[in-house]
Amino acid sequence: MRIESPRILAALGELGVEHRPGASLAELTSLGIGGTSDLLRIRQHQHLPALIRLLRAEGIEHRFLGGGTNVLIADGELPWVVLQLIGPRPDVVIDGNSVWVDAAADLGRAVTTCARHNLGGMEGLIGVPGSVGGALRMNAGAYGTEIGRFVREVELYRSSTGENETVRDSAISFEYRHTSFAPSDVMLRARLDLPSKPYEEILAGIRVCNEKRRASQPLNQKSAGCIFKNPPGGSAGRMIDGLGLKGFRVGDAMVSDRHANFFVNVGHASYSDMLGLIAEVRARVHAAHGCDLEEEVIVWNE
Ligand SMILES: Cc1cc2nc3c(=O)[nH]c(=O)nc-3n(C[C@H](O)[C@H](O)[C@H](O)COP(=O)(O)OP(=O)(O)OC[C@H]3O[C@@H](n4cnc5c(N)ncnc54)[C@H](O)[C@@H]3O)c2cc1C
Repeated sequence: MRIESPRILAALGELGVEHRPGASLAELTSLGIGGTSDLLRIRQHQHLPALIRLLRAEGIEHRFLGGGTNVLIADGELPWVVLQLIGPRPDVVIDGNSVWVDAAADLGRAVTTCARHNLGGMEGLIGVPGSVGGALRMNAGAYGTEIGRFVREVELYRSSTGENETVRDSAISFEYRHTSFAPSDVMLRARLDLPSKPYEEILAGIRVCNEKRRASQPLNQKSAGCIFKNPPGGSAGRMIDGLGLKGFRVGDAMVSDRHANFFVNVGHASYSDMLGLIAEVRARVHAAHGCDLEEEVIVWNE
């Protein structure tokens, strides 16, 4: 969607919003798939309520993008604008064992910044790409660690009140790749409590996790990580692999030959190539195992 009205553009300017007309979402996502839309980048969190009020009043739909590493976006000119936070500097502020991390901060960099201050626990998250906000929304996790375990409070834009609020961990439930935040809440920053650990020990843990990832994942190809959630007690990757589907393609969308739950864009995959591959693999797993795989990747259609 394009915003062309001089009145709306002036209002965006007053809120300090950076307006990038016709941004390519394929360039902003790790899958390299997605059409075009205006991108609105927000530097001052306190202006988010006013920005969303403005968009609502003008009938402009929006979607919220973090690092773009867990989304599959439709092609063509999209009927909504995309919002994204720009982090302050510094975006990680440490006070003893407490750390305030901005939602726009890169998750991996936040983990290493904490490590340099002898704060550990998050080693397993080191190779999860994307932003802290996206990790909070998804309750990102790997190698036995989930970000939700460390969260003490979250500052967010609460869609039900239209205001920014701070929510304590006791009011949030973090589950496997799911959180109790409303779909239109926007994470702004979070306070994490991390255990003290010597830097060298954290670094050793980080090296082990990096090694495991390099050995099993197609890190030099375009993907969104795991396409499906693991069903309770099972492994989506093992089921897909067991059906001999590694390398199976729909157009330029392919089941990775390194990790069967990673679907990769091997050229110019379209949205419908990737959706078609997801549907076909899901149908074959259902036929063989009677199991309905649920997507982990977030799909933004029209
Ligand atoms: C190579 C690779 C490996 C991966 N490995 C893992 C892994 O081991 N474990 C794992 O959990 N994930 C993994 N992922 C998936 C992905 O990195 C995580 O889900 C990540 O946390 C998504 O963050 P993001 O900022 O990129 O979110 P995006 O992809 O931008 O968005 C994902 C969802 O979060 C929402 N969102 C983003 N920012 C905010 C915010 N500030 N407030 C509210 N909502 C927001 C978006 O609207 C969208 O619904 C992997 C991905 C890749 C490409």
